[in-house]
Amino acid sequence: MSQIYGRVALIGLGLIAGSMAMAMRRAGLAGEIIGYARSAETRDTVRELGFCDRVEDSAVEAVKGADLVVLCVPMGAMGPVAAEIGPNLGKGATLTDVGSAKQEVIKAVGPHLPAHVHFIPGHPLAGTEHSGPNSGFAGLFENRWCLLTPLPGTDPDALARLASLWRGMGSHVEEMDAEHHDLVLAVTSHAPHLIAYTMVGVADDLRRVTDTEVIKYSAAGFRDFTRIAASDPTMWRDVFLTNRDATLEILGRFTEELFALQRAIRTGDGEMLHDYFTHTRAIRRGIIEAGQDTDAPDFGRGRSEDE
Ligand code: NAP
Repeated sequence: MSQIYGRVALIGLGLIAGSMAMAMRRAGLAGEIIGYARSAETRDTVRELGFCDRVEDSAVEAVKGADLVVLCVPMGAMGPVAAEIGPNLGKGATLTDVGSAKQEVIKAVGPHLPAHVHFIPGHPLAGTEHSGPNSGFAGLFENRWCLLTPLPGTDPDALARLASLWRGMGSHVEEMDAEHHDLVLAVTSHAPHLIAYTMVGVADDLRRVTDTEVIKYSAAGFRDFTRIAASDPTMWRDVFLTNRDATLEILGRFTEELFALQRAIRTGDGEMLHDYFTHTRAIRRGIIEAGQDTDAPDFGRGRSEDE
């Protein structure tokens, strides 16, 4: 692959930014990678790890002269960061983000950007339950989707350039409007995370009665819930605060289905349960056939597709 951007600035230096830097380096996609993170501790860690060519002590310094700026901070921080760096973005630069919900990020970031900047929101559907500068790896985006949610009137060349960057990092790229993105993600990621958080909370409550049995005998199902429920609290707080409407819509539907299943259990309607589970098994098969997971029995424990 050849170089796509001369200088890329990564704002926020955790799992996603670290993985992007390593993936860009591996494929030679960026001439130079500049980084910035909020705490001096993270900045020093990244200087030691060396996945950026330079780490600056301010976001403003980091974005100077950048052709591409990527916001890799928790979503709640994106508006304030955009307000700070907006006036320092160069003419013709592209600003993108990796936030897990799109409509609220667009509302928070867009107003702070000068007209000469191409703003192209994005979201790589790849992650793990680990966070921080030590958790990134070059292969995170391989064979995963990256959804770009361009606004009407987006410059086609700037869009094509950003799409080739993601392809160069191993992703499949698709465009989607932001509202649709948020609904799809509420179904595939946000509501499931909330259910996992709840299930682990219930088990924790139960543990007070049954002592350590919940941990001791936790077989696949519950263990997978605990893995998901170990995801970063700041990031997931922001997911639910920013994708509120779509998540509430899906949780409403989830509750209705749950009541239907609860009723089938109470009335002993085995046929309903069997039909339901046959249908859900077919969905799982579809995911494997689409190449988005393996049917290995340890699914999800080594590395996972997240949000
Ligand atoms: P992370 O590992 O927790 O890293 C977040 C980084 O942002 C840290 O370097 C942190 O700096 C920095 N930061 C936090 N607040 C900041 C602020 N106000 N100003 C400047 N820097 C700030 O997070 P991540 O998992 O990479 O997630 C980053 C973004 O990617 C989120 O918006 C999330 O929605 C999205 N995303 C995550 C996943 C996933 O599974 N993790 C997947 C797809 C998309 P300090 O270390 O100094 O606090």
